[in-house]
Amino acid sequence: MISEQWARVSAELRSEIGENNHKSWIEPLECISLQAGVVEFRAPSRFVGDWVKRNYQDQIFQRLRSDNPAVSRIEFNVGTQPRSKPAAPAISRSAEGSTAPQRDTNLQGAPLDGKFNFDNFVVGKPNELAHAAARRVADGGDVTFNPLFLYGGVGLGKTHLMHAIAWELQEKRPDLQVLYLSAEQFMYRFVQALRDRQIMDFKNLFRSVDVLMVDDVQFIAGKDSTQEEFFHTFNALVDQNKQIVISADRAPGEIKELEDRISSRMQWGLVVDLHPTDYELRLGILQQKAALFAQTYGPVRIGDGVIEFLAHRITTNVRVLEGALQRLFAFSSLIGQEITMDMVQDCLSDVLRTSDRRVTVEEIQRKVAEHFNIRLSDMLGPKRTRTIARPRQIAMYLAKELTSRSLPEIGRRFGGRDHTTILHGVRKVEEMRSSDNQMAEDIDLLRRLLQS
Ligand code: ADP
Ligand code: MG
Repeated sequence: MISEQWARVSAELRSEIGENNHKSWIEPLECISLQAGVVEFRAPSRFVGDWVKRNYQDQIFQRLRSDNPAVSRIEFNVGTQPRSKPAAPAISRSAEGSTAPQRDTNLQGAPLDGKFNFDNFVVGKPNELAHAAARRVADGGDVTFNPLFLYGGVGLGKTHLMHAIAWELQEKRPDLQVLYLSAEQFMYRFVQALRDRQIMDFKNLFRSVDVLMVDDVQFIAGKDSTQEEFFHTFNALVDQNKQIVISADRAPGEIKELEDRISSRMQWGLVVDLHPTDYELRLGILQQKAALFAQTYGPVRIGDGVIEFLAHRITTNVRVLEGALQRLFAFSSLIGQEITMDMVQDCLSDVLRTSDRRVTVEEIQRKVAEHFNIRLSDMLGPKRTRTIARPRQIAMYLAKELTSRSLPEIGRRFGGRDHTTILHGVRKVEEMRSSDNQMAEDIDLLRRLLQS
Protein backbone atom coordinates (compact mmCIF):
# COMPACT_ATOMS: atom_id res chain seq x y z
CA MET A 1 0.00 0.00 0.00
CA ILE A 2 2.73 2.42 0.92
CA SER A 3 4.49 1.46 -2.29
CA GLU A 4 1.47 2.52 -4.33
CA GLN A 5 1.31 5.75 -2.48
CA TRP A 6 4.99 6.32 -3.07
CA ALA A 7 4.54 5.64 -6.78
CA ARG A 8 1.96 8.41 -6.93
CA VAL A 9 4.07 10.84 -4.97
CA SER A 10 7.14 10.01 -6.98
CA ALA A 11 5.28 10.78 -10.20
CA GLU A 12 4.16 14.11 -8.80
CA LEU A 13 7.71 14.90 -7.82
CA ARG A 14 8.91 14.19 -11.31
CA SER A 15 6.95 17.07 -12.71
CA GLU A 16 7.95 19.27 -9.82
CA ILE A 17 11.71 18.79 -9.83
CA GLY A 18 12.37 17.80 -13.42
CA GLU A 19 13.24 14.58 -15.17
CA ASN A 20 16.97 14.74 -14.48
CA ASN A 21 16.71 15.35 -10.78
CA HIS A 22 14.07 12.72 -10.52
CA LYS A 23 16.24 10.11 -12.20
CA SER A 24 19.28 10.90 -10.11
CA TRP A 25 17.74 11.24 -6.68
CA ILE A 26 14.20 10.01 -6.42
CA GLU A 27 14.18 6.88 -8.54
CA PRO A 28 17.06 5.25 -6.66
CA LEU A 29 15.07 5.46 -3.44
CA GLU A 30 13.33 2.36 -2.25
CA CYS A 31 10.27 2.87 -0.11
CA ILE A 32 10.41 0.09 2.46
CA SER A 33 7.62 0.50 4.93
CA LEU A 34 5.19 2.65 6.82
CA GLN A 35 5.23 1.81 10.51
CA ALA A 36 3.79 3.88 13.31
CA GLY A 37 3.66 6.89 11.06
CA VAL A 38 7.28 6.58 9.96
CA VAL A 39 7.96 6.01 6.30
CA GLU A 40 11.28 4.34 5.79
CA PHE A 41 13.34 4.79 2.63
CA ARG A 42 16.48 3.07 1.57
CA ALA A 43 19.05 4.95 -0.47
CA PRO A 44 21.73 3.14 -2.48
CA SER A 45 24.53 5.23 -0.99
CA ARG A 46 25.15 7.67 1.78
CA PHE A 47 25.77 10.33 -0.82
CA VAL A 48 22.35 9.93 -2.38
CA GLY A 49 20.71 9.64 1.03
CA ASP A 50 22.29 12.82 2.35
CA TRP A 51 21.51 14.64 -0.82
CA VAL A 52 17.88 13.71 -0.81
CA LYS A 53 17.64 14.63 2.83
CA ARG A 54 19.10 18.05 2.25
CA ASN A 55 17.24 18.89 -0.88
CA TYR A 56 14.02 16.96 -1.12
CA GLN A 57 13.09 15.81 2.34
CA ASP A 58 10.44 18.49 2.85
CA GLN A 59 8.85 18.02 -0.53
CA ILE A 60 8.68 14.25 -0.12
CA PHE A 61 7.30 14.52 3.36
CA GLN A 62 4.65 17.07 2.52
CA ARG A 63 3.40 15.13 -0.45
CA LEU A 64 3.31 11.84 1.38
CA ARG A 65 1.49 13.44 4.21
CA SER A 66 -1.11 15.15 2.11
CA ASP A 67 -1.67 11.82 0.41
CA ASN A 68 -1.89 10.03 3.74
CA PRO A 69 -2.30 12.00 6.99
CA ALA A 70 -1.05 9.04 9.03
CA VAL A 71 2.51 9.86 7.92
CA SER A 72 4.32 11.74 10.65
CA ARG A 73 7.96 11.38 9.71
CA ILE A 74 10.24 10.02 7.03
CA GLU A 75 13.56 8.32 7.46
CA PHE A 76 16.38 7.53 5.08
CA ASN A 77 18.70 4.61 5.55
CA VAL A 78 21.58 3.46 3.48
CA GLY A 79 22.27 0.11 1.87
CA THR A 80 20.73 -3.11 3.00
CA GLN A 81 20.67 -2.77 6.76
CA PRO A 82 17.37 -2.61 8.54
CA ARG A 83 16.32 0.57 10.19
CA SER A 84 19.28 2.28 11.80
CA LYS A 85 19.29 4.31 14.95
CA PRO A 86 17.57 7.61 14.37
CA ALA A 87 20.00 10.46 14.22
CA ALA A 88 20.33 12.62 17.30
CA PRO A 89 18.17 15.71 17.03
CA ALA A 90 20.29 18.48 15.61
CA ILE A 91 19.83 21.51 17.75
CA SER A 92 21.99 23.55 15.50
CA ARG A 93 24.04 23.04 12.39
CA SER A 94 26.78 20.65 13.38
CA ALA A 95 30.37 20.37 12.36
CA GLU A 96 31.96 17.60 10.38
CA GLY A 97 33.37 15.58 13.23
CA SER A 98 33.45 17.18 16.59
CA THR A 99 35.85 20.05 16.36
CA ALA A 100 34.35 21.98 19.23
CA PRO A 101 36.67 22.68 22.12
CA GLN A 102 36.58 20.02 24.77
CA ARG A 103 37.23 21.87 27.94
CA ASP A 104 34.68 21.97 30.70
CA THR A 105 32.00 19.76 29.22
CA ASN A 106 29.28 21.75 30.93
CA LEU A 107 30.55 24.74 29.14
CA GLN A 108 30.21 23.20 25.77
CA GLY A 109 28.06 25.22 23.46
CA ALA A 110 26.77 24.32 20.05
CA PRO A 111 29.29 22.71 17.72
CA LEU A 112 31.06 25.08 15.39
CA ASP A 113 31.00 24.60 11.66
CA GLY A 114 34.59 24.33 10.45
CA LYS A 115 33.78 26.13 7.24
CA PHE A 116 32.36 29.18 8.96
CA ASN A 117 35.65 30.99 9.44
CA PHE A 118 36.90 34.41 8.43
CA ASP A 119 38.87 33.04 5.50
CA ASN A 120 35.67 31.78 3.95
CA PHE A 121 33.68 34.92 4.57
CA VAL A 122 33.46 37.14 1.52
CA VAL A 123 33.37 40.81 2.36
CA GLY A 124 31.43 43.34 0.31
CA LYS A 125 29.71 46.64 0.82
CA PRO A 126 26.60 45.13 2.42
CA ASN A 127 28.48 43.34 5.18
CA GLU A 128 31.73 45.21 5.62
CA LEU A 129 30.76 46.90 8.85
CA ALA A 130 29.49 43.71 10.44
CA HIS A 131 32.64 41.96 9.31
CA ALA A 132 34.90 44.68 10.73
CA ALA A 133 33.09 44.59 14.06
CA ALA A 134 33.32 40.81 14.21
CA ARG A 135 37.04 40.99 13.47
CA ARG A 136 37.53 43.45 16.26
CA VAL A 137 35.82 41.18 18.76
CA ALA A 138 37.78 38.22 17.43
CA ASP A 139 41.05 39.98 18.23
CA GLY A 140 40.28 39.35 21.86
CA GLY A 141 41.68 42.69 22.99
CA ASP A 142 39.99 45.07 25.38
CA VAL A 143 36.24 45.08 25.22
CA THR A 144 35.35 48.25 23.35
CA PHE A 145 31.69 47.73 22.68
CA ASN A 146 29.36 45.52 24.56
CA PRO A 147 27.37 43.82 23.32
CA LEU A 148 28.07 43.47 19.64
CA PHE A 149 24.61 43.10 18.20
CA LEU A 150 24.49 41.68 14.67
CA TYR A 151 21.24 41.62 12.85
CA GLY A 152 19.96 40.90 9.36
CA GLY A 153 17.68 38.72 7.29
CA VAL A 154 17.85 34.97 6.98
CA GLY A 155 20.94 33.54 5.35
CA LEU A 156 23.01 36.71 5.28
CA GLY A 157 25.88 35.37 7.35
CA LYS A 158 25.13 36.09 11.02
CA THR A 159 25.86 32.59 12.20
CA HIS A 160 28.88 32.38 9.93
CA LEU A 161 30.37 35.49 11.51
CA MET A 162 29.69 34.28 15.04
CA HIS A 163 31.40 30.96 14.40
CA ALA A 164 34.28 32.81 12.82
CA ILE A 165 34.69 34.87 15.97
CA ALA A 166 34.69 31.73 18.08
CA TRP A 167 37.28 29.98 15.92
CA GLU A 168 39.56 32.95 15.87
CA LEU A 169 39.34 33.50 19.61
CA GLN A 170 40.17 29.88 20.27
CA GLU A 171 43.32 30.33 18.30
CA LYS A 172 44.37 33.74 19.53
CA ARG A 173 43.17 33.56 23.10
CA PRO A 174 43.03 29.94 24.20
CA ASP A 175 42.90 31.24 27.77
CA LEU A 176 39.39 32.59 27.25
CA GLN A 177 36.25 30.57 27.85
CA VAL A 178 34.13 31.14 24.78
CA LEU A 179 30.57 29.93 24.76
CA TYR A 180 28.50 29.98 21.59
CA LEU A 181 24.92 28.78 21.54
CA SER A 182 21.55 29.57 20.07
CA ALA A 183 18.94 31.37 22.12
CA GLU A 184 16.87 28.25 21.81
CA GLN A 185 19.59 26.23 23.52
CA PHE A 186 19.92 28.87 26.17
CA MET A 187 16.26 28.45 26.92
CA TYR A 188 16.49 24.69 26.82
CA ARG A 189 19.31 24.64 29.34
CA PHE A 190 17.52 27.12 31.52
CA VAL A 191 14.33 25.11 31.58
CA GLN A 192 16.29 21.97 32.28
CA ALA A 193 18.07 23.65 35.18
CA LEU A 194 14.75 24.77 36.61
CA ARG A 195 13.37 21.31 36.34
CA ASP A 196 16.41 19.70 37.92
CA ARG A 197 16.63 22.38 40.60
CA GLN A 198 20.11 23.33 39.48
CA ILE A 199 19.50 26.93 38.77
CA MET A 200 22.50 28.03 40.83
CA ASP A 201 24.75 25.83 38.73
CA PHE A 202 23.20 27.31 35.64
CA LYS A 203 23.84 30.84 36.83
CA ASN A 204 27.39 30.12 37.87
CA LEU A 205 28.15 28.44 34.62
CA PHE A 206 26.94 31.27 32.44
CA ARG A 207 28.56 33.87 34.60
CA SER A 208 31.92 32.20 34.36
CA VAL A 209 32.45 32.55 30.64
CA ASP A 210 34.66 35.22 29.12
CA VAL A 211 32.85 35.55 25.83
CA LEU A 212 29.17 34.70 25.44
CA MET A 213 27.63 34.46 22.01
CA VAL A 214 23.91 33.93 21.64
CA ASP A 215 22.52 33.37 18.17
CA ASP A 216 18.99 34.23 17.04
CA VAL A 217 18.01 35.99 20.22
CA GLN A 218 14.59 36.89 18.78
CA PHE A 219 13.69 33.35 19.77
CA ILE A 220 13.39 34.17 23.45
CA ALA A 221 11.12 37.17 22.93
CA GLY A 222 7.85 36.56 24.69
CA LYS A 223 9.31 33.72 26.76
CA ASP A 224 9.17 35.63 29.97
CA SER A 225 11.25 33.76 32.49
CA THR A 226 13.91 32.92 29.93
CA GLN A 227 14.12 36.56 28.92
CA GLU A 228 14.45 37.52 32.51
CA GLU A 229 17.24 35.06 33.15
CA PHE A 230 18.99 36.09 29.98
CA PHE A 231 18.85 39.70 31.09
CA HIS A 232 20.48 38.85 34.42
CA THR A 233 23.18 36.81 32.78
CA PHE A 234 23.77 39.59 30.33
CA ASN A 235 24.09 42.24 33.02
CA ALA A 236 26.34 40.11 35.18
CA LEU A 237 28.73 39.56 32.29
CA VAL A 238 28.74 43.15 31.18
CA ASP A 239 29.50 44.19 34.74
CA GLN A 240 32.55 41.97 34.66
CA ASN A 241 33.56 43.48 31.36
CA LYS A 242 33.07 40.20 29.51
CA GLN A 243 32.34 40.35 25.81
CA ILE A 244 28.88 39.48 24.56
CA VAL A 245 27.88 38.92 20.97
CA ILE A 246 24.27 38.61 19.99
CA SER A 247 22.50 38.03 16.71
CA ALA A 248 18.89 38.49 15.71
CA ASP A 249 16.85 38.66 12.57
CA ARG A 250 15.98 42.31 13.19
CA ALA A 251 17.07 45.36 15.16
CA PRO A 252 16.70 45.20 18.95
CA GLY A 253 13.91 47.76 19.01
CA GLU A 254 11.94 45.84 16.41
CA ILE A 255 11.80 42.53 18.18
CA LYS A 256 8.24 42.26 19.39
CA GLU A 257 7.70 41.06 22.91
CA LEU A 258 11.30 41.65 23.83
CA GLU A 259 11.13 43.64 27.00
CA ASP A 260 12.01 47.30 26.59
CA ARG A 261 14.70 47.28 29.20
CA ILE A 262 16.37 44.38 27.44
CA SER A 263 16.14 45.88 24.02
CA SER A 264 17.48 49.21 25.18
CA ARG A 265 20.29 47.48 27.01
CA MET A 266 21.21 45.75 23.74
CA GLN A 267 21.65 49.09 22.12
CA TRP A 268 24.33 50.24 24.51
CA GLY A 269 26.91 48.42 22.52
CA LEU A 270 27.42 48.37 18.82
CA VAL A 271 24.44 47.48 16.66
CA VAL A 272 25.32 46.60 13.08
CA ASP A 273 23.24 45.11 10.36
CA LEU A 274 24.02 42.81 7.50
CA HIS A 275 22.38 44.33 4.47
CA PRO A 276 20.88 42.22 1.71
CA THR A 277 23.60 41.10 -0.69
CA ASP A 278 24.29 42.97 -3.88
CA TYR A 279 25.24 41.46 -7.20
CA GLU A 280 29.00 41.88 -6.71
CA LEU A 281 28.93 40.23 -3.32
CA ARG A 282 26.92 37.32 -4.67
CA LEU A 283 29.43 36.86 -7.46
CA GLY A 284 32.25 36.82 -4.94
CA ILE A 285 30.47 34.35 -2.71
CA LEU A 286 29.72 32.04 -5.63
CA GLN A 287 33.33 32.06 -6.74
CA GLN A 288 34.51 31.30 -3.27
CA LYS A 289 31.97 28.52 -2.76
CA ALA A 290 32.89 27.03 -6.13
CA ALA A 291 36.46 26.71 -4.89
CA LEU A 292 35.22 25.03 -1.71
CA PHE A 293 32.94 22.62 -3.55
CA ALA A 294 35.77 21.68 -5.89
CA GLN A 295 37.51 20.27 -2.84
CA THR A 296 34.56 17.98 -2.19
CA TYR A 297 33.39 17.09 -5.66
CA GLY A 298 36.61 17.49 -7.60
CA PRO A 299 37.20 20.12 -10.24
CA VAL A 300 34.16 20.88 -12.33
CA ARG A 301 34.04 23.11 -15.37
CA ILE A 302 31.51 25.90 -15.12
CA GLY A 303 30.15 27.15 -18.40
CA ASP A 304 30.11 30.79 -19.41
CA GLY A 305 27.50 32.93 -17.78
CA VAL A 306 26.40 30.37 -15.20
CA ILE A 307 27.83 32.14 -12.16
CA GLU A 308 26.51 35.49 -13.36
CA PHE A 309 23.08 34.02 -13.99
CA LEU A 310 22.86 32.57 -10.50
CA ALA A 311 24.05 35.81 -8.90
CA HIS A 312 21.45 37.65 -10.87
CA ARG A 313 18.54 35.34 -10.18
CA ILE A 314 18.94 34.10 -6.62
CA THR A 315 19.03 37.26 -4.64
CA THR A 316 17.51 36.89 -1.22
CA ASN A 317 19.35 34.25 0.69
CA VAL A 318 22.97 33.18 0.49
CA ARG A 319 22.09 29.75 1.81
CA VAL A 320 19.80 29.15 -1.16
CA LEU A 321 22.42 30.48 -3.53
CA GLU A 322 24.99 28.16 -2.08
CA GLY A 323 22.62 25.19 -2.16
CA ALA A 324 21.93 25.82 -5.82
CA LEU A 325 25.60 25.82 -6.69
CA GLN A 326 26.19 22.72 -4.66
CA ARG A 327 23.43 20.90 -6.45
CA LEU A 328 25.04 21.79 -9.77
CA PHE A 329 28.42 20.57 -8.59
CA ALA A 330 27.06 17.28 -7.38
CA PHE A 331 25.11 16.71 -10.53
CA SER A 332 27.92 17.68 -12.81
CA SER A 333 30.43 15.47 -11.04
CA LEU A 334 27.95 12.62 -11.13
CA ILE A 335 27.50 12.71 -14.88
CA GLY A 336 31.02 13.98 -15.61
CA GLN A 337 30.02 17.00 -17.63
CA GLU A 338 30.55 20.70 -17.28
CA ILE A 339 27.86 22.86 -15.75
CA THR A 340 25.89 24.36 -18.60
CA MET A 341 23.00 26.78 -18.69
CA ASP A 342 20.76 23.90 -19.77
CA MET A 343 21.77 21.98 -16.70
CA VAL A 344 21.03 25.03 -14.57
CA GLN A 345 17.52 25.31 -15.95
CA ASP A 346 16.89 21.65 -15.50
CA CYS A 347 18.45 21.07 -12.08
CA LEU A 348 17.28 24.27 -10.50
CA SER A 349 13.82 24.69 -11.96
CA ASP A 350 12.27 24.57 -8.50
CA VAL A 351 14.68 27.10 -7.00
CA LEU A 352 14.42 29.43 -9.96
CA ARG A 353 10.66 29.31 -9.88
CA THR A 354 10.39 30.34 -6.27
CA SER A 355 13.07 33.00 -6.56
CA ASP A 356 11.26 34.45 -9.51
CA ARG A 357 10.12 37.61 -7.97
CA ARG A 358 6.65 38.07 -9.33
CA VAL A 359 6.40 41.48 -10.83
CA THR A 360 2.89 42.52 -11.73
CA VAL A 361 1.80 44.62 -14.67
CA GLU A 362 0.26 47.08 -12.22
CA GLU A 363 3.56 47.45 -10.39
CA ILE A 364 5.33 48.12 -13.66
CA GLN A 365 2.80 50.76 -14.65
CA ARG A 366 3.15 52.47 -11.31
CA LYS A 367 6.95 52.53 -11.33
CA VAL A 368 7.16 53.68 -14.92
CA ALA A 369 4.61 56.44 -14.35
CA GLU A 370 6.56 57.56 -11.29
CA HIS A 371 9.83 57.51 -13.16
CA PHE A 372 8.54 59.65 -16.03
CA ASN A 373 6.45 61.79 -13.80
CA ILE A 374 3.13 61.13 -15.46
CA ARG A 375 -0.19 60.20 -13.94
CA LEU A 376 -1.14 56.54 -13.73
CA SER A 377 -4.51 57.42 -15.21
CA ASP A 378 -2.78 58.87 -18.26
CA MET A 379 -0.70 55.74 -18.62
CA LEU A 380 -3.91 53.76 -18.96
CA GLY A 381 -5.97 56.42 -20.71
CA PRO A 382 -6.25 57.37 -24.38
CA LYS A 383 -3.82 60.34 -24.62
CA ARG A 384 -1.33 59.93 -27.43
CA THR A 385 1.12 62.76 -26.89
CA ARG A 386 4.65 61.57 -26.91
CA THR A 387 5.41 62.40 -23.25
CA ILE A 388 2.69 59.93 -22.35
CA ALA A 389 2.81 57.45 -25.18
CA ARG A 390 6.52 56.73 -24.80
CA PRO A 391 6.41 55.78 -21.12
CA ARG A 392 3.32 53.75 -21.85
CA GLN A 393 5.18 51.78 -24.49
CA ILE A 394 8.09 51.24 -22.14
CA ALA A 395 5.69 49.89 -19.57
CA MET A 396 4.23 47.55 -22.18
CA TYR A 397 7.67 46.38 -23.10
CA LEU A 398 8.62 45.71 -19.47
CA ALA A 399 5.32 43.93 -18.90
CA LYS A 400 6.13 41.62 -21.76
CA GLU A 401 9.70 41.10 -20.54
CA LEU A 402 9.17 40.71 -16.83
CA THR A 403 5.84 38.97 -16.48
CA SER A 404 4.43 35.83 -18.01
CA ARG A 405 1.28 37.59 -19.19
CA SER A 406 0.19 37.19 -22.80
CA LEU A 407 -0.25 40.18 -25.07
CA PRO A 408 -4.07 40.15 -24.80
CA GLU A 409 -3.80 39.97 -21.02
CA ILE A 410 -1.39 42.89 -20.99
CA GLY A 411 -3.74 44.76 -23.34
CA ARG A 412 -6.60 44.34 -20.89
CA ARG A 413 -4.50 45.81 -18.13
CA PHE A 414 -3.66 48.82 -20.26
CA GLY A 415 -7.19 50.13 -20.31
CA GLY A 416 -8.52 47.44 -22.63
CA ARG A 417 -6.15 47.89 -25.54
CA ASP A 418 -5.89 45.42 -28.36
CA HIS A 419 -3.00 42.93 -28.36
CA THR A 420 -1.71 44.37 -31.65
CA THR A 421 -1.30 47.73 -29.93
CA ILE A 422 0.80 46.08 -27.24
CA LEU A 423 2.87 44.27 -29.84
CA HIS A 424 3.45 47.51 -31.67
CA GLY A 425 4.58 49.20 -28.46
CA VAL A 426 6.94 46.37 -27.56
CA ARG A 427 8.50 46.39 -31.04
CA LYS A 428 8.87 50.13 -31.01
CA VAL A 429 10.80 50.05 -27.75
CA GLU A 430 12.96 47.15 -28.91
CA GLU A 431 13.83 49.15 -31.97
CA MET A 432 14.54 52.39 -30.19
CA ARG A 433 16.55 51.15 -27.26
CA SER A 434 19.48 50.15 -29.45
CA SER A 435 19.89 53.66 -30.80
CA ASP A 436 18.60 55.73 -27.90
CA ASN A 437 21.04 55.55 -24.99
CA GLN A 438 18.84 57.47 -22.62
CA MET A 439 16.01 55.08 -23.22
CA ALA A 440 18.24 52.06 -22.74
CA GLU A 441 19.39 53.50 -19.44
CA ASP A 442 15.87 54.25 -18.29
CA ILE A 443 14.83 50.72 -19.06
CA ASP A 444 17.80 49.21 -17.24
CA LEU A 445 17.12 51.29 -14.20
CA LEU A 446 13.44 50.45 -14.16
CA ARG A 447 14.16 46.79 -14.61
CA ARG A 448 16.52 46.85 -11.65
CA LEU A 449 14.04 48.71 -9.53
CA LEU A 450 11.31 46.26 -10.35
CA GLN A 451 13.40 43.20 -9.77
CA SER A 452 15.09 44.22 -6.56
P1 ADP B 1 22.20 33.54 9.01
O1 ADP B 1 22.73 33.02 10.30
O2 ADP B 1 22.33 35.03 8.87
O3 ADP B 1 20.81 33.09 8.70
P2 ADP B 1 24.33 31.95 7.91
O4 ADP B 1 25.47 32.55 8.62
O5 ADP B 1 23.86 30.63 8.37
O6 ADP B 1 23.10 32.97 7.84
O7 ADP B 1 24.70 31.88 6.36
C1 ADP B 1 24.00 31.08 5.44
C2 ADP B 1 24.97 30.47 4.45
O8 ADP B 1 25.47 31.49 3.61
C3 ADP B 1 26.19 29.84 5.12
O9 ADP B 1 26.54 28.68 4.43
C4 ADP B 1 27.25 30.89 4.98
O10 ADP B 1 28.53 30.30 4.88
C5 ADP B 1 26.88 31.56 3.69
N1 ADP B 1 27.26 32.98 3.66
C6 ADP B 1 26.52 34.05 4.03
N2 ADP B 1 27.21 35.20 3.85
C7 ADP B 1 28.42 34.83 3.37
C8 ADP B 1 29.60 35.56 2.97
N3 ADP B 1 29.65 36.90 3.04
N4 ADP B 1 30.64 34.85 2.52
C9 ADP B 1 30.59 33.51 2.43
N5 ADP B 1 29.54 32.77 2.77
C10 ADP B 1 28.45 33.42 3.25
MG1 MG C 1 21.82 31.86 11.72
